[in-house]
Amino acid sequence: MKQSKLFPRARKEAPKDEVSKNAQLLIRAGFIDKLMAGVYTYLPLGLRTLKKIENVIRDEMTKAGGQELLMPSLHPKENWQITGRWDSLDDLFKFTSFYSETELALGPTHEEVISPLVKKFNLSYKDLPLGLFQFQNKFRDEKRAKSGILRGREFLMKDYYSFHTSEEDLDKYYENMKTHYENIFARCGIGNVTHLTFASGGSFSKYSHEYQAITEAGEDIIYVCPKCSVALNREIADDNGKACPECGNKNLEEKKSVEVGNIFKLKDKYSSPFNLKFTNDKGEDKPMIMGCYGIGLGRLMGAITEILSDENGMRWPAEVAPFKAHVLEIGKTNDDVKKAAEELSVKFEAAGIDTLHDDRDDVRAGEKFAEADLIGLPYRIVVSDKTLSSGGVELKLRNETAGKIIKTNEILNEIQKL
Ligand code: ATP
Ligand code: MG
Repeated sequence: MKQSKLFPRARKEAPKDEVSKNAQLLIRAGFIDKLMAGVYTYLPLGLRTLKKIENVIRDEMTKAGGQELLMPSLHPKENWQITGRWDSLDDLFKFTSFYSETELALGPTHEEVISPLVKKFNLSYKDLPLGLFQFQNKFRDEKRAKSGILRGREFLMKDYYSFHTSEEDLDKYYENMKTHYENIFARCGIGNVTHLTFASGGSFSKYSHEYQAITEAGEDIIYVCPKCSVALNREIADDNGKACPECGNKNLEEKKSVEVGNIFKLKDKYSSPFNLKFTNDKGEDKPMIMGCYGIGLGRLMGAITEILSDENGMRWPAEVAPFKAHVLEIGKTNDDVKKAAEELSVKFEAAGIDTLHDDRDDVRAGEKFAEADLIGLPYRIVVSDKTLSSGGVELKLRNETAGKIIKTNEILNEIQKL
């Protein structure tokens, strides 16, 4: 992709009312634009990043046995009355259809849609366990939407629901899901600061689990056990007298954090109001046991921004970076430099390395370097008269301070090794 064609071309300052670091960086770098509090457009660079994150999550959820579907955002009032959440959820967006005069909700989550959906197909024990997931925009009337894309009023979520014949089967499925969640956060570059966190399981389960990533930008407080690396959220810490549920250690470290995902044993919380059952091997109807597993994609992207950025800008891990390589033409417009940069970009793309090629003639070198750091692609390749006369191009990783000259015909090989 040629940077001269990239929308938006000009970088802009973040709006004055934008207080969070993630939104400031992402707006300045042209990844997102703010429409109103908690509502953002994903511009081409931002959408590429979001899609890369989506692909990592899809890959892990498919490996967990899930099948992808897509449910609607518009929900009928009745489904939400059946669970009592029409009245009990204070952040539910509700409105009345002008023509039909029926009341509707904009989906904040999908238990009220998936439970009656699965019921329609009269599943038997042979169909279970079943895992269904989607990537879908959720709507919640969040009161404090001040954290950029960490807390949207409209936001993309992966929500996964599992269906089981027994609690034992759910337990097994749930444990396996933890591994895939760990893989997701590791592949997104924040595995080392993301802790499995014990949270309340409500009235029907002892614990649920949150995945909390440590960052000053977080609105949550967790207590991390330095011995086994699990954590407790505030509610559980208060109940447990601040002792680790795994090893009993009482020296826990208090940290600010953001919940990037969570997993929950719903058991029959939603199957029972919808009368969702399965047929067992004796032909009897039994209540379906359920689990649910969420991840906010925008929140995860915002957490990566907050956690991995430095004073010069963002630092995307290769797997979720909008482009992997950033080829910069530096110096006066010069045919040799242009030609070499162009050839490299074509070669990289052909080898499956997404490349942003800064081909702009009207931008000074200093500005190109500063923008490259701000956007934060993992591999920066500078092509200039100077690098060509020293025998090649300069490769600098975003995580390192010094670059090194590499022969032009070896650079692809070098990057593939990274
Ligand atoms: P929080 O306590 O931060 O409001 P929640 O408990 O309401 O989160 P869930 O309802 O469990 O979150 O949603 C599942 C996942 O969706 C969360 O783990 C988080 O990653 C994401 N998420 C929740 N609310 C938002 C939001 N307003 N904006 C972006 N992502 C969100
Ligand atoms: Mg919430």
